[in-house]
Amino acid sequence: MAGSNVSRYYDPEIETASRDALKNLQEKKLWAIVRHAWNHSPFYRKKFEEANLTPDKIRSLEDISRLPFLVKEDLRKDQEAFPPWGSMLTLAAEECQRIHMTSGTTGRPIKILDTPEDWSRFCHIYGRNLYAYGIRKTDMVMPAFSFGPWIGFWAGFYACQEIGCLLFASGGMKTEQRIDALVTYPITVIGCTPSYAIHMADVAKNNGIDLTQKARIRISWHTGKAGAAIPGVRQKIEEGYGCKAFDFLGSTEIGPWGFNCEFQSGLTHVNEDWAYPEVLDLNTDEPVKPGGIGELVLTNLERKANPFLRYRSRDIVQAADRKCPCGRTLFALEGSVLGRLDDMKKVRGVIVYPSKIEEILRTFTEVDEFRVVFKRVEGLDEILVQVDPVPQLERGSYDEFRRRMGKALQIGLGIRASVELVEHGALPRWDHKAKRVVDERKDVPF
Ligand SMILES: [Zn+2]
Repeated sequence: MAGSNVSRYYDPEIETASRDALKNLQEKKLWAIVRHAWNHSPFYRKKFEEANLTPDKIRSLEDISRLPFLVKEDLRKDQEAFPPWGSMLTLAAEECQRIHMTSGTTGRPIKILDTPEDWSRFCHIYGRNLYAYGIRKTDMVMPAFSFGPWIGFWAGFYACQEIGCLLFASGGMKTEQRIDALVTYPITVIGCTPSYAIHMADVAKNNGIDLTQKARIRISWHTGKAGAAIPGVRQKIEEGYGCKAFDFLGSTEIGPWGFNCEFQSGLTHVNEDWAYPEVLDLNTDEPVKPGGIGELVLTNLERKANPFLRYRSRDIVQAADRKCPCGRTLFALEGSVLGRLDDMKKVRGVIVYPSKIEEILRTFTEVDEFRVVFKRVEGLDEILVQVDPVPQLERGSYDEFRRRMGKALQIGLGIRASVELVEHGALPRWDHKAKRVVDERKDVPF
């Protein structure tokens, strides 16, 4: 039974379905959503016609490769040409219930609408992720989030409500107030960005409050950046609260598409009845074999207002080649998102993922905050890693620390990076999408 305490699964009939049953379900849903898009979205009608495609050509799951790709830029242009909602919208905005916006770094943010049914399913699937972390009706939950137009933890709030949790909204609260709530009330779960979780634990510590003793957090979940999947980040959060920290994979465009389960096996389960995944080779766009690395392309099989068909996520992932001990049959990824195509940097001919740099930095307890700058000095690409150390690090050990870190970076990246230590507190702290990577090079060779 969904939501039952006796089951390990929120939707056992989906999470443990046979591959054939899942495929059947996906085919039915794909059939319906493609026709819906064709019939009701001028944007898709045009896109299909340009690709010389009619819905009758999409019969099986394999036919999905006939659908044209969708990229974020398509949406931006569509919403500029047909303001404010764009011609992708399949019904009148008045029929919808929610508007969310992507936290775009360039141009106007993209607006995405949901019907009441879309939103209710969105929250249900989100609940499946939370349930897999071990969140139950008996938990008291605080989403530490500002509740603005970014979709972030909105659905998480309703998902907890569906599970039956007691909710503590902390929208307008300052970090100190949230910490006070954590030590005052029996809050057992928090949801926030990974960097905010670390920040809040640091603030508590600096105020002499040990949250592992004074608070009762047993589970935390994180979205906003793939950070919680980085072992060093997860460890830092788990040590700060004495909890188990979980990675939540989702986006405004696609919704909650993946999660790691209570076994923390290093796999990401994909909610493939909701978001159909393809992992496509970075050069050929052909599906990769199990174990292969490629770009994750997702088709939302349910959301009606703004259907997302074959959306290029720009996330680089690896298709799993092993099973998780939890028994879920859902398609899985090895690890989490490995990197973003947009974030991939080329430095002196070597491909560098800033997320890898973060992973290395997080293994050093001396690091409080950091910034990575890609720059060009006298025609040569350089990586500068600025470290804002913890106050306990004595000045006398700066040189030794810098050498150790330089060595770890060289081994981990296969390329040399300069390390610079700044004054404690000199770098900005982030509670939303962190901007720790700066590329100062003008003509980036990528
Ligand atoms: Zn699992």
